[in-house]
Amino acid sequence: MLEIKNLQVKLEEEDKQILKGVNLTVEAGKVHAIMGPNGSGKSTLSYVLSGKDGYEVIGGGATLDGEDILDMEPEERAAAGLFLAFQYPVEIPGVGNMTFLRTAVNAQRKARGEEEMSAAEFLKVVREKAKTLKIDAEMLKRPVNVGFSGGEKKRNEILQMAMLEPKMCILDETDSGLDVDAMKLVADGVNALRSEGRSFLVITHYQRLLDHIKPDVVHIMAAGRIVKTGGPELALEVEQNGYADILAEVQ
Ligand code: ADP
Ligand code: MG
Ligand code: MG
Repeated sequence: MLEIKNLQVKLEEEDKQILKGVNLTVEAGKVHAIMGPNGSGKSTLSYVLSGKDGYEVIGGGATLDGEDILDMEPEERAAAGLFLAFQYPVEIPGVGNMTFLRTAVNAQRKARGEEEMSAAEFLKVVREKAKTLKIDAEMLKRPVNVGFSGGEKKRNEILQMAMLEPKMCILDETDSGLDVDAMKLVADGVNALRSEGRSFLVITHYQRLLDHIKPDVVHIMAAGRIVKTGGPELALEVEQNGYADILAEVQ
């Protein structure tokens, strides 16, 4: 599924290396979590995988089902089945949520060489998915994220994910300041969308999120590398003792 090999990344504008050889394999259907102290490169990893500007890959690579994703344009990555949650956190006044979602779905289809979804078909699918995810259909009519509460934005992101049916979902929650309810929402959404062919990479500061999501594998990232990998118990260890013990152990 997702295979990251010795990934090394620096800032484009500055001579500063952020990722110093990240190795990570996420198998189909699995949920992996990445935790780690502030500034260890967690967000940089998710940005590089999503194709955000400002970063330069100076070594190693990343593939999704054997396809090199780092060479792809962001829309090609989406077509290949990669989804970065919170990739559309912006408010778009004047654009209805429904229109926005349909544009995203059809852009993905086009990049895959598939036919566009008709308005009627789209409406049917989006209503079904909204219902399954317990999302109020009213939200579909509002302009994208305008005046949405934190929780509503999270719901909307989960709905985007459900509509795009990605193979690999990356969630970087680190800086979003989720309250307990929003965290539960994200966790419920992820759990509802878990399936054999879909993997998740959940980046988080909070053990609490992992109480609800239950990862298969937990990685600790520090100073641009994954320094320790274990099961869910590793997240509990972090909650109890912080990162100091783990970092001392691996140095
Ligand atoms: P994390 O998500 O683990 O907190 P980040 O990936 O956000 O870590 O940051 C890793 C390091 O890279 C930090 O030292 C951060 O200051 C630096 N960094 C990341 N992006 C930029 C940028 N665009 N400009 C300057 N420094 C950056
Ligand atoms: Mg940070
Ligand atoms: Mg971060």
